[in-house]
Amino acid sequence: MGVSMSDANSGVSSGTGQRTDVAIVGAGPVGLFAIFECGMLNMRCHVIDALEGAGGQCSALYPEKPIYDIPGYPEIMAEDLVAKLEEQAAPFEPVYHFGQQVVSLDETGEGRWRVETSAGTVIDAAVVMIAAGVGAFGPNRPPMEDLPAYEASGAVRYLVTRRRDFRDKRVVIAGGGDSAVDWALSLSELAAHVAVIHRRPKFRAAPESVARLQKLAEDGNVELVIPYQPAALEGTDGQLAAVVARDLDGNEKRLEADFFLPFFGLAQNLGPIAEWGLNLDYNHIQVTPATCATNRAGIFAIGDIVTYEGKLKLILSGFAEAAAAAHAARRIVYPDEELHFEYSTSKGVPGS
Ligand code: FAD
Repeated sequence: MGVSMSDANSGVSSGTGQRTDVAIVGAGPVGLFAIFECGMLNMRCHVIDALEGAGGQCSALYPEKPIYDIPGYPEIMAEDLVAKLEEQAAPFEPVYHFGQQVVSLDETGEGRWRVETSAGTVIDAAVVMIAAGVGAFGPNRPPMEDLPAYEASGAVRYLVTRRRDFRDKRVVIAGGGDSAVDWALSLSELAAHVAVIHRRPKFRAAPESVARLQKLAEDGNVELVIPYQPAALEGTDGQLAAVVARDLDGNEKRLEADFFLPFFGLAQNLGPIAEWGLNLDYNHIQVTPATCATNRAGIFAIGDIVTYEGKLKLILSGFAEAAAAAHAARRIVYPDEELHFEYSTSKGVPGS
């Protein structure tokens, strides 16, 4: 195997110039499962993620939401799924590099790849698996002055990671999609007051959720501020006092607030990945479905970032892609060895 034991045992980033079998770009659910699939085929992995921890969209966007379509789990919280995936990957001693974006990917000339991160970490890998989801993602921000000060204090947030932060607080939500509606429903159970600013009467969320929101509004448990848009923030030193909403005629409403949660979707951007000579279809990487191979030998792509006919953007599809890519990658890492296919029940995992 390509990685030294000291790197492998540390479990965290340890300097520059590291050699491994597989470099996985992205530690979302699909990248995490790829560690397991590669491990079962005796391939060691380094995993790089721009975020500060594992889980991708599950951790960053909906940690406390239940997922219902993971095989074998009738219901599992997104954050619990991530914890299980990390546990499943752990016996294979992946080396994680968090808080680092992969900025460049170059062929070394020896049929290997040089992966470099924004922190200057260099990884030399036989194979690269891109499990980068929607790429470098960030929230669409409302055009408001002084936003950075309120973001820094946590008064303006683009995702909810802990519901309890909002207990007995005044919360103003903006947006008309699933996130805005779902969090208005959820936070109305514990916040002191919830207002939802939306620019038009129709919401783009699940009809049943919209009906529940409208009932809450009729009963006076949520305030709907329609058709308005958030226009300004009031407060001092990042301490929020109110959100000012304005309609197209310039009429204003001042909504007292401790928190402002604008849910205007994600800005999706492949970032540096767009420069790596891969065949792209809009913001997705084209792959051969049976192997998840890209047009560049030794680079595979799996999960939300890929496209092929019939692709489903589901976690379970990404898991199957991780298995297919690992089997194809093994032929590159061990070109002279036949694979004797074994079930996990016969092979076991290290330490089992
Ligand atoms: P992601 O989870 O997007 O992870 C990709 C990771 O790559 C990110 O952490 C990112 O930081 C990192 N990355 C990107 N570019 C770089 C780079 N250059 N360098 C370093 N790191 C990089 N799916 C289901 O199957 N069932 C559901 O019920 C379900 N519910 C959902 C609910 C919501 C609200 C949302 C938003 C999504 C839901 N999904 C659901 C979709 C599911 O979350 C995605 O299919 C899944 O997260 C894709 O996993 P991934 O590992 O491919 O990518």
